[in-house]
Amino acid sequence: MKKLGLYIHIPYCEHKCIYCDFYSIINFKNVDEYFSAIQKEIEIRAKEYSKNHIIESIFFGGGTPSLVDEKFINQIITTIYKNFSVSQNVEITIETNPGTVDKLKLISFFKMGINRISVGIQSFDEEDLRFLTRIHSKQQAIATIENAREIGFENISLDLIFNLPNQTLKKWGKNLEIAVKLPIKHISTYSLILEHGTILNAMVEKGKVQIGEENHDAELYLFTQNFLEENDFKQYEVSNFAKTKFESVHNKLYWHHENYLGFGTSAHSFVDGKRWWNFKSLIYYLKSANENNFQPAGYEFLTEENKLEEFIMLSLRSDGIRLENLSEKYGNDWLKKNERKIEQYISQKLISRDKTHLRLTKIGYAVCDEILANLSI
Ligand code: SF4
Repeated sequence: MKKLGLYIHIPYCEHKCIYCDFYSIINFKNVDEYFSAIQKEIEIRAKEYSKNHIIESIFFGGGTPSLVDEKFINQIITTIYKNFSVSQNVEITIETNPGTVDKLKLISFFKMGINRISVGIQSFDEEDLRFLTRIHSKQQAIATIENAREIGFENISLDLIFNLPNQTLKKWGKNLEIAVKLPIKHISTYSLILEHGTILNAMVEKGKVQIGEENHDAELYLFTQNFLEENDFKQYEVSNFAKTKFESVHNKLYWHHENYLGFGTSAHSFVDGKRWWNFKSLIYYLKSANENNFQPAGYEFLTEENKLEEFIMLSLRSDGIRLENLSEKYGNDWLKKNERKIEQYISQKLISRDKTHLRLTKIGYAVCDEILANLSI
């Protein structure tokens, strides 16, 4: 049986945050119809993929999955168990935003088998939260995590954003200090990215907001790596840190090029080298559900070269290239072709090499994009 991850996209949000370019909607008119469609999509895909796969991870992402009535989430989990073989150790994650979950809702999630909570905190600083137009306060963020732990969730993750306007090293450090004192096992932390079409991007273009420069960004990133390492959070990807045994199963499925199915608007699927994606817009997704039996919006078959490129990129960004895997799957040409560059990166202490792996070092992670762009396929 091959491993399989399932991703369920819940696009609903209470409002649109200024920096967000995810597909999200604030109109709840079609919620019932949307969840019925997802159930149907799961049943249809299961006919094709359930026989030779075992589910290792189920991930509810968004949008704000914790905003919808918990009965919908329960229905989806029940449908998955009815239609797929699910591993006894399955990781079931739900993304939650503080301010959209109270204790009772967390208890419902726990009872329905969800065993990992990912909390979208972004900052513990009230000024930052106002700037990002988040709907929660620092106190709500802390309470959500403490409540989740009290209820019994052992595996709690939080998201933080750095390099916000006027964010000094001291201010960012305070965020991390608060985070590591909480009962969490995993931290994802991203630099603020300006995406086209967002309100924030327009504000920056009009000169109303200034984003910290690259050097400051790098300083915050290196500080984060050191601080989290000192506090027992091991880096296992460019933006992800975890305590021992709490690396995200779902993330690792993606990064190890395993198969996954995505359900709902804009969700992507990848099975044995074929990738396809659903319509982004709710209206088109529902139309495809009703009229075309979930014909995807698009698809592609990865060539051997595409596969190698993704393998190198995903491995280097995460826990390194396993040399045995590389050689088994793609031979040794890539290593030979890049030998000189790799030696140079090793001498610059950006890449390390041992008997089994090629890995980015701490500084290597910081310049990961440049390294990847420079390596040939
Ligand atoms: S809550 Fe998350 S998904 Fe929704 S608008 Fe804000 S950043 Fe985007």
